[in-house]
Amino acid sequence: MCGIVGVAGIDKAAELAYLGLYALQHRGQEAAGISAVDESGRIHLQREHGLVVEGFSDSVMATLPGRNALGHVRYSTAGGPGLVNAQPMLVRYHQGDLALVHNGNITNAVGLRSSLVREGALFQTTVDSEVIVHLIARSRAPAVEEQIIEALSQLTGAFSVMITVGDALYAARDPWGFRPLTLGRLNDGHVIASETCALDLIGATIERDLQPGEVIRIRNGAAEELTRLTGAERPAPCIFELVYFARPDSRVWGVSVDRARRAFGRQLAREQPVDADCVFSVPDSSNSAALGFAEESGIAYELGLIRNHYVGRTFIHPTQKGRDFRVRIKYNAVREVINGKRVIVVDDSLVRGTTSRGLIALIREAGAREVHFRVSSPPVTNPCYYGIDMPTREELIGAQKTVEEIREHLNVDSLGYLSLEGMHSAVASHGPFCDACFSGNYSAPLVDLEMGRRVSSHC
Ligand code: SF4
Repeated sequence: MCGIVGVAGIDKAAELAYLGLYALQHRGQEAAGISAVDESGRIHLQREHGLVVEGFSDSVMATLPGRNALGHVRYSTAGGPGLVNAQPMLVRYHQGDLALVHNGNITNAVGLRSSLVREGALFQTTVDSEVIVHLIARSRAPAVEEQIIEALSQLTGAFSVMITVGDALYAARDPWGFRPLTLGRLNDGHVIASETCALDLIGATIERDLQPGEVIRIRNGAAEELTRLTGAERPAPCIFELVYFARPDSRVWGVSVDRARRAFGRQLAREQPVDADCVFSVPDSSNSAALGFAEESGIAYELGLIRNHYVGRTFIHPTQKGRDFRVRIKYNAVREVINGKRVIVVDDSLVRGTTSRGLIALIREAGAREVHFRVSSPPVTNPCYYGIDMPTREELIGAQKTVEEIREHLNVDSLGYLSLEGMHSAVASHGPFCDACFSGNYSAPLVDLEMGRRVSSHC
């Protein structure tokens, strides 16, 4: 998964992009990059490993002049964490310098790449985003906007993208609208970001979400719709952004993420009630859902688990034993809250189950009399091919075990999930949504997968 930000027509654009990336850090921690377009149209680029705060000193920022900029934070996937796969991507083609940032997963990228390679294209990276750059560069259309539209029209799957060429910034969402992208204004210029929390930090006013399939160009202070890409039967924005991924202070799909999670929690309390002394969350992504559960059930909300926010990648161990240790590094239980109590633990989702199992052990060691585990989404039974990193079906506990088997595996007194219908009903006025990881109903064709091709690495 990744986060993207674009700034158009504002002095020191790179500094604003930097701020935006700060707010989007939760969407990717492996690498960060900023590109900036100077007055001559030349693009300057800096990409660094790790967190935004680690990579962009004053001296680095001084190398990024201009009024248009793009920023990207990357969560590495199968393509590997090397800087070569970091974004923005920068190419020098026949129309000048072009920079691109992408969030999503193009489901026909491997096939497109094979065709391009056969035609002589030389790929520099292993990420799917690079096919967009090659398709633009190889287009025979005369104008840049036509080249971009022609390239994007050939893609299937998830892409929220931004591109700078010369004095223009282009932004687009795929026809299904899987990944978010919101347009804002700051003075005479524009800011676009994956989440509104980035616009808030920059001080931009939120104007509107880009619509599924919409392609816009921002130039000379004006944002203009160029076209709508087609191909989707219906929009399918990712409901997992509301469940887990986006920040609770963002508005995504026209709804406050905090309010959506509270609604999930309230619905969960209605569907899976249990008598207990207190309810607490697995911090931080489950805080709002646990609050909703507490509001609906009338059971006291407590802070039973504390998360250490300073855990670096140093503690990533490849072994199972290492992963359990990582849970203990990341979380601790508050004995005074838990000892002798019947507790309800609310988590936003259950993917592998390894972290949850480690957490339950911590909670039991802190003296819990009963542990009731509640999940504010349905069982995850299928991988995501639209840009959220999930393990294979074999590793998804919801695909491999029954609810009773999972309860035993986690060592809890009871386990209850939010139903698929309940999840949708909680945010019904903002749908329809993609729910393929819960239901197996994939809306955009999985072209590479169906052709037996290895799915490409994505962002
Ligand atoms: Fe989101 Fe799940 Fe759909 Fe992927 S499969 S886009 S995570 S709802």
